[in-house]
Amino acid sequence: MKQGLLIVVSGPSGTGKGTVCGKLLAETPQLAYSISATTRQPREGEIDGENYYFISREKFEEEIAAGGFLEYADVYGNYYGTPLKKIEERLNAGQDILLEIDTQGALNVMKKCPEGIFIFLLPPSMAELERRIRGRGSETTETLARRMGAAKAEIAAGRKYTYVVVNTTVNMAVKNIQSILIAEHSRVDRNDDAFDI
Ligand code: 5GP
Repeated sequence: MKQGLLIVVSGPSGTGKGTVCGKLLAETPQLAYSISATTRQPREGEIDGENYYFISREKFEEEIAAGGFLEYADVYGNYYGTPLKKIEERLNAGQDILLEIDTQGALNVMKKCPEGIFIFLLPPSMAELERRIRGRGSETTETLARRMGAAKAEIAAGRKYTYVVVNTTVNMAVKNIQSILIAEHSRVDRNDDAFDI
């Protein structure tokens, strides 16, 4: 059985990561989403077991101690983590898995799973990123400055990824990621059995 691909997508908040990943998943049937665990409160409309597994800090720390996460990180004061067991099962069953995680978590996955595919999503420009963050409407001058500072730090980490995709339009970004997946599936080192003809 061929192993599935472990695909990691990151990008600064406001890049449109959620929208791009949502469309990518809807249009790529062989790709499954890894649902993270988090200690943050659900936002309106978010469903437990669909967007995240919403758990207490206590339970999260128990899971850390039990080695239950492939990676975890503290993002803006809340824990976020990728459940390990489900991913292993699905990769072994040949399923491609998408992780949408922050750069701290992704750098840890790079160490543990160097065969993973690391895709960094960039906004077309910093001015456009600022416009998109402002567009959410909930930012004060202070939180905007903090988010822009955090975005610059995330972008610096993006140089360590394998691929970069600029989110000029959602459709183009999705097509680019699908092209990366096709190319990765076509690598000789992933297709030993194709030569048995
Ligand atoms: P939000 O609270 O807006 O859903 O997510 C905040 C940040 O946490 C985003 O950058 C998101 O990609 C990241 N994130 C979500 N799940 C995980 C996870 O399992 N691990 C890590 N390291 N980051 C995550």
